Amino acid sequence: MPRQDLLALTFDDLVTLSNRGITKRATQEAQDLKAEVTEEDTGVVQVIWDDATCRLLVGVTLAQAECTCTSIGMCRHIIRSVLAYQAHASASVNEATDFGGDANSEAPAPIASKPWDPGAITDEQLESLYHKNTLRRARTEFERGQVLELVRSAKPVATVHSMSCTVRFLVPGDPNYTHCDCAEPAPCSHVPLAVWAFRLLEPAKEAGLVTTHRDPPSIPTDTLGAVEKTLAEIAIIGLAHTPAPILERLRRQGEELRKAGLVWPAEIVDDILLQTQSYQTHDARFDPRRFADLWSEIHVRFDAIRSDTGSIPQLFVRGAASDRTTEVGSARLIGLGSMVHSRQGVTEVESYLQDMDSGLVVAVQRTFNDPDPASGEDPRPFSKLGQVPVAKGVSLSSLAEGQMLIKGGKRTARCEFIIGRSPATFNPQSYQWERLRPPLLVENLEELNARLESRPPQCLMPRRVGTNLFVLPVASVEACTYSDEYQELQAVLADESGRQTLLTLPYFSRGAEGLNATLSLLQSPESTLKFVAGEFHRTAAGPVIHPISLIFEKEGHRIMHQPWLSKSDDASSNASTTQISIPHEAPWNAYLARLSTEISELLLLGIDTSSDLTVRQWSDLTQQAQKSGLKNIAVLVEAVTRSLDEKRNTPTAPSTKTAAALANLAVVVLMTRM
Ligand SMILES: [Zn+2]
Ligand SMILES: [Zn+2]
Repeated sequence: MPRQDLLALTFDDLVTLSNRGITKRATQEAQDLKAEVTEEDTGVVQVIWDDATCRLLVGVTLAQAECTCTSIGMCRHIIRSVLAYQAHASASVNEATDFGGDANSEAPAPIASKPWDPGAITDEQLESLYHKNTLRRARTEFERGQVLELVRSAKPVATVHSMSCTVRFLVPGDPNYTHCDCAEPAPCSHVPLAVWAFRLLEPAKEAGLVTTHRDPPSIPTDTLGAVEKTLAEIAIIGLAHTPAPILERLRRQGEELRKAGLVWPAEIVDDILLQTQSYQTHDARFDPRRFADLWSEIHVRFDAIRSDTGSIPQLFVRGAASDRTTEVGSARLIGLGSMVHSRQGVTEVESYLQDMDSGLVVAVQRTFNDPDPASGEDPRPFSKLGQVPVAKGVSLSSLAEGQMLIKGGKRTARCEFIIGRSPATFNPQSYQWERLRPPLLVENLEELNARLESRPPQCLMPRRVGTNLFVLPVASVEACTYSDEYQELQAVLADESGRQTLLTLPYFSRGAEGLNATLSLLQSPESTLKFVAGEFHRTAAGPVIHPISLIFEKEGHRIMHQPWLSKSDDASSNASTTQISIPHEAPWNAYLARLSTEISELLLLGIDTSSDLTVRQWSDLTQQAQKSGLKNIAVLVEAVTRSLDEKRNTPTAPSTKTAAALANLAVVVLMTRM
């Protein structure tokens, strides 16, 4: 009986179990050096080399294999022996089947890697591997309530969100061959947790979220109701006219939410109050659409808290006590790239980094008020904003590109990072992104798709920067062009298995330099794209990436390119001369945008100050929704319109009815727009 476990290990698995350097060297040596492979009846494989002898034991991890050399733990002889055994096994299969005289019979393909379910690993297997106490502790943790994101692929993955670690299963049915990014030796105590969680995932599902708690958390109905009542009042009076006592009441209610463990809803209240403040001080940071989104998001989350069906983890919807501003001691932060968010009057630049201990993604952010258009001053190009320093001698752009060793700082609930006063060390990095931590780093598009499909919409995810940031290894750039129609750069990228995804980068005159440079790098035959980091969004046609960085390999060296902040070395690039046309949008996208604007208008000025014109505009919105075939939305828009009209005709009619109709609509619009 051949050793299926050893045959199932791929090059990448061996890298995961040791490291890239050892695996590369061992692969070369396995081809060059002579080995004598014998397989004992017990299944133990012995491999004799000139410089060492290895014994690959049964039922233990690869790190527990024996080698006669002096190095501790996994040495390259063991990796070499696995490879020698695989060659040996395939040669003997050839001998056995070669009698037909088929000259084409190549070495048999390695064991077909089909998706499998780690839930099938038995409790007996776990009991034979772990000490009783370890298993009991794991069971207690499991029952205390954990949130896991599971993917049943050829190499299944379990991300324990509540413990910030990720377990990968490398060999079908064998818990010995697992890798976790925690500090424990393999197989770590998260493996049983993952196995039990996989058993809770519906058998037909390829991926999904599992919450393991038995008792659903309590629902603070009174607090939710009180907040909703205040929000309705603001909608009726309008943000522009809301008196200070009502805002003060909202602030106190936000504290109540926090006390009840509803961290994310409490954060939304804080954001609403910040928007209010910006409005009152005529700060450019006030954005009526943003205010409306916050007002809607809190209703979405309250709905998910009240009707807890178990399909969306309450940990995501509510947040946890650990989601607060925390002091960070020493940490190593690896730059991942940067993104620019630009809207009327304000530009935000965010540089993203991964904390190599926790795997959390954090952002260092700067907000810039753009010059008043009346002043005649041109807003600065994005590349100039990237040069703004965030610490001594380090700019936003260089931070996103290098790595930083810090001795102190703060991380907010949203995972914004505030660099402390203690000295930080900045270094360049060599972009060995194979070592970034999951779930940020995914193996391929299959895993990425499964993750995206199992996740709830953004408005129900943890309110952290980077929740939809991923790093994807890229095998090839299939096509790359500038689309006049959409005013964006479009590139088709493929992973190792040939699956494809679209990358898009929108055109901004202030970001034209970066866009041109991206286009010429993607089209250049001298540089090979190795990784892309970016926000991934699910669309009907598959995932779309909005990149924050691209890692290219050129003459053996890796470089990072930041599409938003980089300067163009090549001014003659063709993209800048491309004619720009009006982008084509799906008609319902434009409609939803208009609807959002009208909702924000109503929230700003108040339901009670609505005029005949408001009613006419809303009647028009109803008709448009009916025409575009948005049936569900049409019904909700009509409800708002009808109650606005009623209020115009009968001033004594209660405005609360309109506010409730508006909340129902806002929830659906926010969920549809995601
Ligand atoms: Zn050795
Ligand atoms: Zn672990």
